[in-house]
Amino acid sequence: MKNRIFLLIVTAFLLANFSCTTEPDVPKVKNIILLIGDGMGTAQVYAGMTANHGHLNIERCPVVGFQKTYSANSFVTDSGASGTAISTGTKTKNGSIAVDTSGNPVKTILEYAEDHGYVTGLVATSTITHATPASFIAHNVNRGKYEEIAQDFLETEIELIIGGGEDHFNNREDGLDLIESFEDKGYTFIRDISEIDNSSERTVCLTSGEALPPVHERGENVLSDATKIAINYLSRKGSFFLMVEGSQIDWAAHDNNTQGIIGEVLDFDKAVGEALDFASKNKQTLVIVTADHETGGMGINGGDFPEGTVEAGYTTDGHTGVMVPVFAYGPHAESFAGIYENTDLFHKMMDAYGFKPE
Ligand code: MG
Ligand code: ZN
Repeated sequence: MKNRIFLLIVTAFLLANFSCTTEPDVPKVKNIILLIGDGMGTAQVYAGMTANHGHLNIERCPVVGFQKTYSANSFVTDSGASGTAISTGTKTKNGSIAVDTSGNPVKTILEYAEDHGYVTGLVATSTITHATPASFIAHNVNRGKYEEIAQDFLETEIELIIGGGEDHFNNREDGLDLIESFEDKGYTFIRDISEIDNSSERTVCLTSGEALPPVHERGENVLSDATKIAINYLSRKGSFFLMVEGSQIDWAAHDNNTQGIIGEVLDFDKAVGEALDFASKNKQTLVIVTADHETGGMGINGGDFPEGTVEAGYTTDGHTGVMVPVFAYGPHAESFAGIYENTDLFHKMMDAYGFKPE
């Protein structure tokens, strides 16, 4: 009897240990689609939701968290420092792009993905050299050095670029033609997203010399079409990382322009819908929707769901220091619940892919 109990205990111990050491990790994700609404705090989200009679695609994300946005040298961040926090896991000074506080380059999630053989893409409605997209691919202490930032795009093997800013590539003070350099590197260069050809190995699509016009001028589905085309293009080539920015929510908020904010949020939300439609079929795609900071100190004082009207007020024409929301969908989405640093977004994405930081 004693022996049998002893055997049982030993067996239980072995089983417990065995199951501990061989328990498989949560499967890693194949793809991450990160959508950043620049300047999109909870009030901007809710303004869009109210104007849309009470619903947004963002609501399809079952997991919600909040991130703290302060930078290394300021309670109120800019898009360079906050983009860097998200893309590299490093808090840096305002105005910096994927460098640490001493100015040393820090490797971005996009660069990690490239080094692991993943295909990558950046989509924005600003110039592609602007702070948010630049934070994923360029390294500079000064976000305003657009010509230098444009050159950094040639240092990676990124498969797809869609945005504005052709002037920073071929209408430069130094006279260089970086579009030619892209073509020498095997890229297809086009100016219209409808011309993106899935059989091209790498594509640069710059639809305007500077930033794209605001949503009421550029057309309502430009960002969501670009997102759908980008997902289609990248997913055919392999596992991927895609960052999509609704760049101009911030600009409308700097202008305290409520209708402008609503237009840009609804436009961005359609892009979120494209990402979620893909992820719901693909099952191995993590979708993260967040902001880099809040802009305008926007508050909502009143509104009407049936009418879709919003009464808003603002505390500033600059950025504010409040936490911003994070919405997540798909495998590893649960890790985005809670309140954490903006830098944790990088670590959570690395963990979801199964990449080890260098
Ligand atoms: Mg931006
Ligand atoms: Zn701003």
